[in-house]
Amino acid sequence: MTSSFRITLLPGDGIGPEIMAVTVEVLKTIGRQMDLAFEFETALIGGAAIDATGEPLPEETLKICKASDAVLLAAIGGYQWDSLPRHQRPETGLLALRAGLGLFANLRPATILPQLVDASSLKREVVEGVDIMVVRELTGGIYFGSPKGIFETETGHKRGVNTMVYTDSEIDRIGKVAFATAQKRRGQLCSVDKANVLEVSQLWRDRITALAPDYPDVTLTHMYVDNAAMQLIRWPKQFDTIVTGNLFGDILSDAAAMLTGSIGMLPSASLGADGPGVYEPVHGSAPDIAGQDKANPLAQVLSAAMMLRYALDQPAAADRLEQAVTTVLDQGYRTGDIMSASMTQVGCQAMGEALLRVLV
Ligand code: NAD
Repeated sequence: MTSSFRITLLPGDGIGPEIMAVTVEVLKTIGRQMDLAFEFETALIGGAAIDATGEPLPEETLKICKASDAVLLAAIGGYQWDSLPRHQRPETGLLALRAGLGLFANLRPATILPQLVDASSLKREVVEGVDIMVVRELTGGIYFGSPKGIFETETGHKRGVNTMVYTDSEIDRIGKVAFATAQKRRGQLCSVDKANVLEVSQLWRDRITALAPDYPDVTLTHMYVDNAAMQLIRWPKQFDTIVTGNLFGDILSDAAAMLTGSIGMLPSASLGADGPGVYEPVHGSAPDIAGQDKANPLAQVLSAAMMLRYALDQPAAADRLEQAVTTVLDQGYRTGDIMSASMTQVGCQAMGEALLRVLV
């Protein structure tokens, strides 16, 4: 029986439309082969939406997203919108989308593909085989806690304040996503905090520990964030799934991502309690290469694979897509950002065609 899914496409700005076009063709092919019917609807976000409607996230876009099974986003932003007031900037559209869909969990895999081991700045033996998933809490913690601001003291000095705060329910909901993610991977979850110093981290550790009995197939460990930063560089292969708060996750997910050495290869997913998640590459809109057929579409394609796995529960289709990416790299195809000696340099469209040849 054919399974059908409604997918909202948000190509956005810069290289966004180019990498999205490749990804849609790949999804259509996979759909035909695996009896999956995708109903695509394209909507505006970011600079493209500002130009068309004056708003970085038109109401209509949020409505379309909410009515879909998953949202596939490319990237937003560009120099021409940088001087607009904050509420009209492309980034504001992205934050509004996350808020509008209640996306509290950010999943960022850092996987070293064997063909790209030499792109890492670390030694081959350290990074070979690395396959980490960072689950970051996205809507709480110090970025949102109050009080926040820069205040004048009674003695006329300035005082900058942010507050790191987590409630038990906020920790529980991200913890459940992390345990469920670890279950779909190798069954190891490392919770990262600073419980030796911060009370908010002590509560974090208590609540994550209390969830563990519900997931007997997952082994839970804890690590302080300063140690986690060291261990990620020293021996990253020890990690499977990491769960952590907003601030620590912001930093550690970037560090984990750079183990791979190639921003054009990194997908991500942002999930809410219910309703559709947003699947998008980690990189931005790369205005410096936009419109030149130079973009690497693979992070976008791998974001579609995450969508198939986590939103649509189609692991076989996700495997097939990820395998196609591995095969085109094996065949020696490289876009400029991951190019190395004796490989075949191709543009965005040609990389898409190579993927289609592998899939059919
Ligand atoms: P960027 O990720 O767009 O680009 C950084 C560098 O990596 C550039 O040299 C770019 O050419 C290259 N690059 C990125 N993706 C690539 C790909 N798929 N293939 C080949 N090369 C690639 O980051 P930036 O330059 O700091 O930001 C550019 C714009 O993107 C800004 O307006 C920024 O606000 C926006 N941005 C958006 C997002 C998002 O949509 N989630 C994330 C980060 C930045």
